[in-house]
Formats: sequence, structure tokens, C-alpha cells
Amino acid sequence: MKNTYDVIIIGGGAAGMMAAISAKRHNPTSSVLVVDRTFALGRKILVCGAGRCNITNINLADKIDDSYHGADKKFIHSILDKFGYNEIVNFFNELGVELYVERKTNVGKLFPITDQASTIVEMMLDELSRLGIEIMLVTEVIDLVKKDSFKVSVVNVDKQGNQIKGTEKLLSSTNLIVSAGGRSYPALGSNGSGYDLIKKFGHRIIKPIPAALPLEAKHPLCHFLQGVKLEAEVTSIISGEKIKTRTDDLMFKKYGLSGPSILNISREISVHFNREDRNNAEVSINFFPGKNLEEVRAIIKSRWDKRPTQTLEKSLYGLFPNKVALTILKYLELNHEKIVSLVSTEEFNLLSESLSDLRIEIIGTRGWNEAEFTAGGIDSTEVKEGSLESKLVDNLYFCGEILDVDGDVGGFNLSWSWASGFIAGLLIRY
Ligand SMILES: Cc1cc2nc3c(=O)[nH]c(=O)nc-3n(C[C@H](O)[C@H](O)[C@H](O)COP(=O)(O)OP(=O)(O)OC[C@H]3O[C@@H](n4cnc5c(N)ncnc54)[C@H](O)[C@@H]3O)c2cc1C
Repeated sequence: MKNTYDVIIIGGGAAGMMAAISAKRHNPTSSVLVVDRTFALGRKILVCGAGRCNITNINLADKIDDSYHGADKKFIHSILDKFGYNEIVNFFNELGVELYVERKTNVGKLFPITDQASTIVEMMLDELSRLGIEIMLVTEVIDLVKKDSFKVSVVNVDKQGNQIKGTEKLLSSTNLIVSAGGRSYPALGSNGSGYDLIKKFGHRIIKPIPAALPLEAKHPLCHFLQGVKLEAEVTSIISGEKIKTRTDDLMFKKYGLSGPSILNISREISVHFNREDRNNAEVSINFFPGKNLEEVRAIIKSRWDKRPTQTLEKSLYGLFPNKVALTILKYLELNHEKIVSLVSTEEFNLLSESLSDLRIEIIGTRGWNEAEFTAGGIDSTEVKEGSLESKLVDNLYFCGEILDVDGDVGGFNLSWSWASGFIAGLLIRY
């Protein structure tokens, strides 16, 4: 393997692989090298969408303003307007990957028809190989300097990610693309080392915090319902203000709350706890998604009118898992054996209010090992819109999660990685 390249890409995740393909396709005679500190490229892609890989979202174009956070929306548009839903789908179709829209959740998630994330990784690796892109695995970039060209210091790492002394090497490149990811799921490779490398060039880093992650609560319902999963409408509430509402699966855990609904409302709560160092947050659970208090009252009342001799507990069966019915009644200190016709107005009010707006105080978030992505990263105001070249250093580009851009659950994060990788790979200056 030689030491001098036209393009070196640091990190071969979704963004880095896409950047390599784009760079080589647009400059076929250039020499392109991907360096990665783990033993295989695209390891995080393999765990995406629980191994099925939710690669994009059919509503991507319409949801940019709502579903992306961090950087200014104009910056995000400057990339996703150029390489959006159609381009992502065409890119994968051309690699031979057929996609389908999942109808079950009705939120527009796209998956490969094989339902296997490995299809995506294998087809991208095949394209890297077809294009003659070089790959250096188990090699960590430990220092960067720019003289006439970039000087990239690397060292080999062992399976545990420890650097192996005596294996240091110096590589050189005209263009550098940094796609080293964020800090989430460090076991899959992205350990935050990219931020330190980039700081050396004077770039500001917006404090990275874990996003799309479970929340911690010390609430009796979490303890007694641990392991139970059901569909619910959940709302994040910060300092008394309702922030975001989502409907999806909710899972009770011994430590608190999890499931896609919670991951989707966790970002602002994580900012509150982990960036602003505050601690005044709640989650409201509505066990009747889409229904307000009056509608919930009407539903319960009509069931009780139909079966006035039923016990309180049985009257709730069929609405949600049986264990939930009994546990909530016990928590509210309502006699579950009471005949519904004997339930007082006060008890009826307490039950319907709790089922439509049950408040759980949040005491913190889980950590990096459970966060699907990172909020924060390289400050986008120091990166050029539309090209992703650094405003501080010529021929230095960024893409993927290392930038201060994060999206909602539903294919928005991979979409950002594909799109920003493709645009960075254009190497507009080069
Ligand atoms: C469990 C889970 C499920 C997810 N599911 C989805 C989903 O279904 N849909 C969706 O849109 N998003 C999903 N995401 C988010 C998505 O996977 C990421 O946003 C995306 O993969 C980020 O890609 P990236 O290339 O920017 O970073 P990464 O994939 O993290 O790649 C960065 C690479 O850089 C390498 N690297 C880091 N530092 C160095 C260094 N100093 N030297 C050399 N190499 C280095 C790392 O080894 C790594 O391979 C999920 C994430 C997780 C954790």
C-alpha cells in the first residue's frame, strides 16, 4: 500500500463509504483511501433498524424542517435538496438493492426488500471494490496536520481498540474527508476521536450529547410493568411546557421508559439534562393515542354502560395488556374488584385523567451505549453550505454524524449520512 493519495477518508461508516464512492465516481483517475479503526466498514449500518436498516423516509423532502435538528435548516437544505429521497433510492436501486415502504407504522420508513442491513453493506463494499477504492482497516487516525497537503498519522489497533505501539505510519493526501461519526455505540467504532482531530484545525465543536435514547425514571409503574410493551402516545414536558408528542411502541423498563416512542421524544430531554445541566422533565403517557380526555371518558363510559356489572379490572381488558389494567388500578389505589356501576364520579375522573395523561417524572437519560445517535458535533457555521468544505481549511470536508446535524428516528439519520457523504465526495474545490 502506498502512502500518498488524492483523497483520504477518515471513517468508513455510511457517510464515509458514500463519500468514497462519490469521490471516485466523479474523479475516476484519483486515488481514494478509506481508513477505519475497526475490523470492517459499515458496522453501525448492520444494527440499523434492528438489523433491517431503515435507509430513508418517503417524506424526507417535506420533513426537513421538522425532523432535523442542530444546524441551521438552510445548511441542511443545502445538502438534502441536492441529494434527497429520489437520489438515495436511485443510488441503491442502481447498486441492485430493491426497497419497500413499511406500511405497518405508516411513517414512511424504507427498508431493503431483504429486510437485511447486510444487503446494504455488502452492495456498498462491492461498489468500493469495483471502483478500486483502497481500504485500511484496524487503523486509527491519531493526528492531522496541513502543510502543502494533509499529513495523516495513523496507528494499528487491536480487537479491543487499543493502539499497537511501533505500528505508526504517516500518510499524505491532497483532500481530506472526515466522516468519523459521533460518540454513540462506541463499540461499533465511533468513539468521538474525530472531534479531537478536527479541533486541531480550529473548528468549534457543539457539545455532543446522546440522542434517541431511553429515559430514566424512579416510578412504581416502571418497576411493576417492566418488560411490558404497548402502543401509546407520549409527550415530552420540560419545565412544565409540552415539547413533542409521538405515537409508537412504549416499553416499561426497570430503570424507566424505552421504545421507539420514547427515543423519538428524548432529544430535547437529553439537551435539558446533558447539555443544560437541568433536571425538570416529565413524560406524559396517553394510553389512548389520538384521543383527548373527553373522548377517553366517553370510551370508558360506554364500556361501563354496556356491562355495568363488570369489575373495574375486567372493564379495561382488551384496551391494553391485562397487566397494565391491573397495575394502573393498583397504582391509583382503585379497588380493581369493584363493580363499575358502583364507581364514584371522583374515581371515574381519576381513572380517565390518568389513562389520558399519566405523568412520569424523568430523572435522567441512559448513556452513549444506548443512544442511536449524537446531537451536537462540528459547528456547521464553520462549514460551507452546499459543499461541506471547511471554511477554515481548504480541501477539508465533513460528512455524516460528526456534523451538528441529527434527525428523528425513521430513516432521517442515514439519509443525512448518504446525502452529506455524496456531497462531500464531490470535492467541489478539487
Ligand atoms: C442501534 C442503532 C440503530 C439505528 N438505526 C437507524 C435506522 O434504522 N435509520 C437511520 O436513519 N439511522 C439509524 N441509526 C443512526 C445511523 O446509524 C447513524 O446516524 C449513521 O450510521 C452515522 O453514519 P456515519 O458514517 O456518520 O458514522 P459511523 O457509522 O459512526 O461511522 C464512523 C466510522 O468512523 C470510524 N472512526 C472513528 N474515529 C476514527 C479514527 N480516529 N480513525 C479511523 N476511523 C475512525 C469508526 O470506526 C466508524 O466506522 C441507528 C443507530 C444505532 C446506534
